[in-house]
Amino acid sequence: MEENLKDRLMNKKVVGWGNVNTREKEDIFSFCNGYINFLNKAKTEREAVCVAKEIAESNGFKDISTFNSLKSGDKVYFINRDKSMYLAIIGSEKLEHGIHIIGSHIDSPRLDLKPNPLYEDSGFAYFKTHYYGGIKKYQWTTIPLSIHGVIVKANGEKITVNIGESDNDPIFTITDLLPHLAQDQMEKKLKNGIDGEDLNLLLGSIPYDDKESESIKLNILNILNQKYNITEADFLSSELEIVPAFKARSLGFDASMVAGYGQDDRVCAYTSLSAMMSLENVKNTAVCILSDKEEIGSMGNTGMESHMFDYFISELLNKTGENRVNLLDKVFCFSKMLSSDVDAGFDPIYSGVSDRTNAAFLGRGIGLNKYTGARGKSGASDANAEYVAWVRNLLESNNIKYQISELGKVDVGGGGTIAYILANKGVDVIDCGVPVLSMHAPYEVTSKYDVYSAYKTYKAFWEA
Ligand code: MN
Ligand code: MN
Repeated sequence: MEENLKDRLMNKKVVGWGNVNTREKEDIFSFCNGYINFLNKAKTEREAVCVAKEIAESNGFKDISTFNSLKSGDKVYFINRDKSMYLAIIGSEKLEHGIHIIGSHIDSPRLDLKPNPLYEDSGFAYFKTHYYGGIKKYQWTTIPLSIHGVIVKANGEKITVNIGESDNDPIFTITDLLPHLAQDQMEKKLKNGIDGEDLNLLLGSIPYDDKESESIKLNILNILNQKYNITEADFLSSELEIVPAFKARSLGFDASMVAGYGQDDRVCAYTSLSAMMSLENVKNTAVCILSDKEEIGSMGNTGMESHMFDYFISELLNKTGENRVNLLDKVFCFSKMLSSDVDAGFDPIYSGVSDRTNAAFLGRGIGLNKYTGARGKSGASDANAEYVAWVRNLLESNNIKYQISELGKVDVGGGGTIAYILANKGVDVIDCGVPVLSMHAPYEVTSKYDVYSAYKTYKAFWEA
């Protein structure tokens, strides 16, 4: 038998850390310090846009509206209603020869306040919530929570709220039943253990004046009026989001992982944004999407289904002087995209849901999904073999570890990303992101090795 037959023929799956030298390990860890810092500053889509704007401007990016014309090497961004953002570096090639898009999302599962949130019951004041995205409701009780968002008064004045993050701030929580009295609750199915209507945020307990009815509610309104100059009606035009108050941290004795809220999909947002900041000149115009509303189906004018993205690319065509009738369609048909969204990491404790030979493992590099969907690939955007080969070649020639996997076993479940939206326009798209444990939980886990692999992958894609 040929001595190296196994090496030559078998696709070996190796742990990435095994080949990392001291200098590379330092690069990985220092990159992830920046990432952890980002997670702590950007817990909502609006905050992510704010931080991304700061990062972009300090790297020479300017609002596209400040340009009359664009030329190769120009760096621009466009912010859509403070909740989603597109960035671009104009390439030396014309846009009609195709653009290279990386698209992530910056919204994460959370609890939103209802339009009329504040009420009082039996000595406590609460906010009513309506959950956003796919959550396991029981995970959101008995943890410290913070409130982030905006209140827009009828006169248009916008008040930014961020309370529960600073060590001097109070935090909030949602209570759960003591085990001693939970006999009935414990008999329920896990998904029914906590009702959506019971996810009420505990806010306070001091009455304003014992003689008034709803005196605790009144006291809270008085505090909010002093702090933000608002009245109860101003909640009607607010977007306040309840997110975990705990900080993202390094995880493990070896500090090899990151634990934090909202890594789906801010891990791909941060790594793609950082990769874009490291670029100077590119051949194909490089476009970075930070989208909103992915967790609830990408609808609306800040979601990826909206025409706002087409408008942005049209503006690039207009300002480079390239535009002509129907050119936008051609641009999309000749473009390539990495849909940068997280993948389910193989969890040995729950190994039953994964096909071990087709699962993404933490620490083995960037995870690609040729397709997502559910059941018989329903709703899948299935990347063409030719395009998968192009991406493979890119990764292999740049010596970047990768794994091509499926979300889980056939018929166990499924999921989707923004991939299909761009694929429907004619773009070649593959899902390409970081494997995550405890996805959609208040505290998600990633491997620092994979986070850095994502950064390297996105950089290589734009430099291709
Ligand atoms: Mn996602
Ligand atoms: Mn998700």
